Amino acid sequence: MANHVVRQQAAVTKEQRQRLNGHKSFILWFTGLSGSGKSTIANALEQRLHQMGLRTYLLDGDNIRHGLNADLGFGPEDRRENIRRIGEVAKLFVDAGVIVLAAFISPYRADRQMVREMVAPGEFIEIYVKCPLEVCERRDPKGLYRKARSGEIAEFTGISAPYEEPENPEVLIKTDKESVEKALKKVIDVLRGKGLINESL
Ligand code: ADP
Repeated sequence: MANHVVRQQAAVTKEQRQRLNGHKSFILWFTGLSGSGKSTIANALEQRLHQMGLRTYLLDGDNIRHGLNADLGFGPEDRRENIRRIGEVAKLFVDAGVIVLAAFISPYRADRQMVREMVAPGEFIEIYVKCPLEVCERRDPKGLYRKARSGEIAEFTGISAPYEEPENPEVLIKTDKESVEKALKKVIDVLRGKGLINESL
């Protein structure tokens, strides 16, 4: 169907938008079990980056599933389509010169790899928010594990659906051992090290 659709060359490029903003644009992709701390860390990090004068936007699992992806379920195919659409949206933000923070369980390695390949090398930073299942279940911030255990929710990651750990994430955060503040420092240090944000910030 897309065969007859010709791509329009943009008159204003990503690089020009980045120059106007004064910083690079890229995707910070948070993956991990429900309750591991993805939203908590992504929100705190967005606030920190915003305070540094950087243009940011947070894409969060629950919000996207209420809107853009309201038609999708939690089987492997729908999870893949969920991540594919989010990847395409994130890519548009990168093109617009914005730092995108994406917090999604994204349990399948191949799906995360698909998003990595949508953008240029170095523009996808995978942050594994690691936390033992028992700890996530004890936190149960949204009461979802309780529902998954009782069978009220099917195909729940960690209980009745798989989670494939990242093999080589750019950042690894263990939220049962490290504070939110420590997590922010880790990510920001990596971004500085890669030249994605200015040393002086
Ligand atoms: P997710 O987005 O991965 O589903 P949330 O961020 O919604 O997870 O919930 C994580 C819960 O764990 C929150 O209630 C948060 O306050 C708590 N928490 C405790 N310690 C940490 C930590 N070190 N990092 C992140 N969250 C933590």
